[in-house]
Amino acid sequence: MPVLVMKFGGTSVATLDRIKRAAKRVGVEVAKGYDVIVIVSAMSGKTNELVGWVNETSKFYDAREYDAVVSSGENVTAGLMALTLQEMDIPARSWQGWQVPLKTNSAHSQARIEEIPTDNLNAKFGEGMRVAVVAGFQGVSPEGRITTLGRGGSDTTAVAFAAAFEAERCDIYTDVDGVYTTDPRITDKARKLDKIAFEEMLELASLGAKVLQTRSVELAMRFGVKLRVLSSFEEQSDEAGTIVCAEEDIMENRPVSGIAYSRDEAKMTLISVADRPGIAAAIFGPLAEGGINVDMIVQNISEEGRTDMTFSCPVDQVARAEKALNAAKDKGDINFHDLVADTNVAKVSAVGIGMRSQSGVAAQMFKTLSDEGINIKVIATSEIKISVLIDRKYMELAVQALHDAFELEKA
Ligand code: ADP
Ligand code: ASP
Ligand code: MG
Repeated sequence: MPVLVMKFGGTSVATLDRIKRAAKRVGVEVAKGYDVIVIVSAMSGKTNELVGWVNETSKFYDAREYDAVVSSGENVTAGLMALTLQEMDIPARSWQGWQVPLKTNSAHSQARIEEIPTDNLNAKFGEGMRVAVVAGFQGVSPEGRITTLGRGGSDTTAVAFAAAFEAERCDIYTDVDGVYTTDPRITDKARKLDKIAFEEMLELASLGAKVLQTRSVELAMRFGVKLRVLSSFEEQSDEAGTIVCAEEDIMENRPVSGIAYSRDEAKMTLISVADRPGIAAAIFGPLAEGGINVDMIVQNISEEGRTDMTFSCPVDQVARAEKALNAAKDKGDINFHDLVADTNVAKVSAVGIGMRSQSGVAAQMFKTLSDEGINIKVIATSEIKISVLIDRKYMELAVQALHDAFELEKA
């Protein structure tokens, strides 16, 4: 039988009633003849609570135990979803990541999927099981420890299952009815897109649009998974939601397709480091080893052989970054006068494949921000995106102003 993957995010399984509603949707697809793999997130708020408990218990925690704790929210919803389906007389059972087994590497809290053997689930489908409910976000390392796939990782679980089982489609059910030109929580002018190109979705996701986890888009692109984002709260129809697809399948040609933001950024500056060959390696090597996700980097003009080096990273990695850099300083590998962390910044980005062929987008972006009196602290660009780091208090204003400037509310 054809396989369909249906993923339900945290808000879609937040209560027993919502699990019932989601289960009914699964029932509709089962009735159409699909074998369904349901991927569930933890109930909304649960993972945050678990992460909070870990942080309260241990500042520089053992990531293996972090994973043991934060993966648990999905175990609950997987079991409850299977029970709900059974109550509807649909043959279903739950699977935790290690039972599948969803094999990952050992990069705890940010693990990458290495393999999903299909035999265990297929054997059960062969025996008449119609729905396999799989706990999202979690897997098992080669050492046999529980791993997690990074925040929002259930999306990646879903796409990886769709690829492994050659599913007809991967439907991501969430609390919005598709992918919008920007987060609809920031402006009611945000417009739902019927289609979005993989490359654009990839940039939007990696720049903060959390509607899909970045890795999930990468995987869908690589394996040609038909990916759809839709609401679990609205009526189901075949046209609902947003399809993430190849660039060739998109008609619209505009320079900017969407605006993304990331609230939880920090800007760190090493004041007065010796400007010599190898200095960047000496700084960013220890940061990489410390697992810091460095994003934007700026090296200032040097004066008298010394320079300031600025970089951005997620705000929750500041303590780790400071630890790594101070350790490198103590070892004599780098030498700086001061390390300053600005934890009140946000990143706002404009994304669009049209930028490849249209110039002036950066200029328009900078002018728009300047008209609003917003100071730009760091700039980064790629072929299809422009990102700026600004004071966090101006983040919403910047998103709204850019959404207006690029006329994204208009179809
Ligand atoms: P789930 O719990 O279902 O995984 P998430 O909270 O992870 O849901 O993702 C959905 C949220 O993503 C939406 O509620 C919305 O606020 C946010 N979001 C950010 N950018 C966008 C965008 N461009 N389009 C749609 N939603 C977006
Ligand atoms: N529950 C996990 C999180 O909140 C994974 C997910 O929902 O995708 O990050
Ligand atoms: Mg999510």
